[in-house]
This record gives sequence, structure tokens and C-alpha cells, in this order.
Amino acid sequence: MRAGSEWPGHVDGAVRSCGILRAIDRLFDAEPEGRLAGKKLTSRGWLCRVPGRHLKGILMGLKTFLGLKRRLIQLPTLERTDPHCNICGGVSFREMNGRQNAYCNTCGSFERTRLMKLYLDRARMPQKGMKVLHLAPERGLANYIKGIVGDENYLATDIDVETYKNLKVTYMDLVTDSEKLPTNHFDLIVHSHVIEHVPCNITAVLFHLHRSLTKSGLHLFSIPILDGCYEESLFPLSDEERNRRFLQYDHVRRFGIDDIHKSVGMIFHLPLTSDITSEFSKEILDLYNVDERSRRGYLHGVFSLQKSDLLLKP
Ligand SMILES: [Zn+2]
Repeated sequence: MRAGSEWPGHVDGAVRSCGILRAIDRLFDAEPEGRLAGKKLTSRGWLCRVPGRHLKGILMGLKTFLGLKRRLIQLPTLERTDPHCNICGGVSFREMNGRQNAYCNTCGSFERTRLMKLYLDRARMPQKGMKVLHLAPERGLANYIKGIVGDENYLATDIDVETYKNLKVTYMDLVTDSEKLPTNHFDLIVHSHVIEHVPCNITAVLFHLHRSLTKSGLHLFSIPILDGCYEESLFPLSDEERNRRFLQYDHVRRFGIDDIHKSVGMIFHLPLTSDITSEFSKEILDLYNVDERSRRGYLHGVFSLQKSDLLLKP
């Protein structure tokens, strides 16, 4: 299972058992029937003489057991099997717009937020001391990231700072301020469902955000991607018209699955598939309440991009 094998929280146990397995392999390679043959492993060491074939059987049995244990250790389900939020650990969820268990009542995460956490885990990010820019920060994810990198390395920004109660958020207007971002500065840039609100050319905004990423950094973002094609209007439309065309009164664009390669796909090298089950196993998506609808078709398109994924070159 690909995702399990990359699970940071389960690496230590796997490494330990790998070390023991390698030690057993070395015993076989070096002395399959030699010096160690005829001795039995006890808690105090090699004390009792046993026939060589029995010793080999004992070691083979031990190796099989540890091999099984190594695979199990890599499954997060070993620690917890009840569906829960992978950001806060909460177990209380509520339905949103027909999507069962979409919203975490404890930290406010949606499926897309928990998906982003999965991508962070896979990239083994963030790490202590990393510089992070988080646009329109989600409470649970913000506390998680800030708790690791430290307050001094975490910058949360929004154009509407008044809406945040218990989180320090700095004013930033992406239309006018994105070009002021420092180059090669942030190790991690995170934003979810922001770009569809920004009333300007988003190529420029995404370019400047990516420019601000360090060479080994990660640009993790989510946009809603609907059926059909891209549409945008910076013209002053009524709330009703925006709601009709872009699904929400304060959206200025909609992304479409049919021509995603002509919008975001002309800025970044995108993953070849919109099927999230090719990235993470069904067991993990079930465990973190990422429902079936959210797994395919870019409903909550999450892009986990490296510096080299920018297609625009000077
Ligand atoms: Zn939560």
C-alpha cells in the first residue's frame, strides 16, 4: 500500500524491525549452518546447543513474524480504527450539502482540509523551523502547522482579518500584495478555496506565490473544480449572477474539469489523474472521512506542487 509505506508516523517501527530482519539475513548469509548453528537463542544469549536445522527454523519463524509485524506497523489502522479527523483527532462530524461526515465539529476541517493533511504527511511536512505562508487559514490546520514550525515561522494572511477570533492573521490583498512576496522564502505555502475569489489575473497571483517558494518547498492548494469548462468575470455582476455562474456570490470564476489543462494546467504541471484513490488507499480515505464523491473528479481538487512544477519560464 503506497500511502502506508510513506506514513511518517509509522516509520520508526518499520525501521527498527527492518534492522532486526537485516541482522537475521546477515546470520543466514554469513553462517547458515556454521558457528551459530547448534545454539539456541535465550534471553541471556546463545546458551544451549540445538541441531542446526532447528536453529534455522527458529530464525525463519522469527523472520516471518517480524516481516508480518513490519507490514502491520505501517498501517495507520493499527493505532486507530474508528473514523476520525487526521488534524485534531476528533470523532464528531456533520453532514454538509449532502456529503455525510464532511465537517469536523472539533476543528472545522472539511474533506479537502483532511486531504491536504494527507498530502502534508506524505511530503513529511511541515518540519520544525520551516517557514510557512497560509492564506485564509483554516483553524485546525493552522494550529497543527503552527504547533510544529513555531509562531515565528508561521504567517497567516487574509484580506478579511476581522473574521478570525483566536488566530493572528495579517492583512494581505493578493491582487496588490502577491508581487511583494519575497523570492525563494517559504518552505510551505498553503491555501484552500481562495483562488476562485481573487478578482484579478490568477496566473500572476499563482506565479508570485510559487516564486516565493524555496527550491525544496511545497505549494499545497485546493480549488473547487466543477463539471464543464472554465468561466470568469471581473465585471461587476450582481450576487445572484455570480451565484448562478460561479456557484457562490463572492466567486469571480469557476474551474471546469473539461478544460483544467487550459487554466491551472497552463501554469503548473498537474498530476495525470484526478482519482485520489490512486494516491491514497480506500482504508485511509475511509478512516479520515473523505467520502466517495470527494475521491474522484477533482470535486475538492488538491494540488501538491513542487518548485519545478511551474511551467512558466522567463
Ligand atoms: Zn478535526
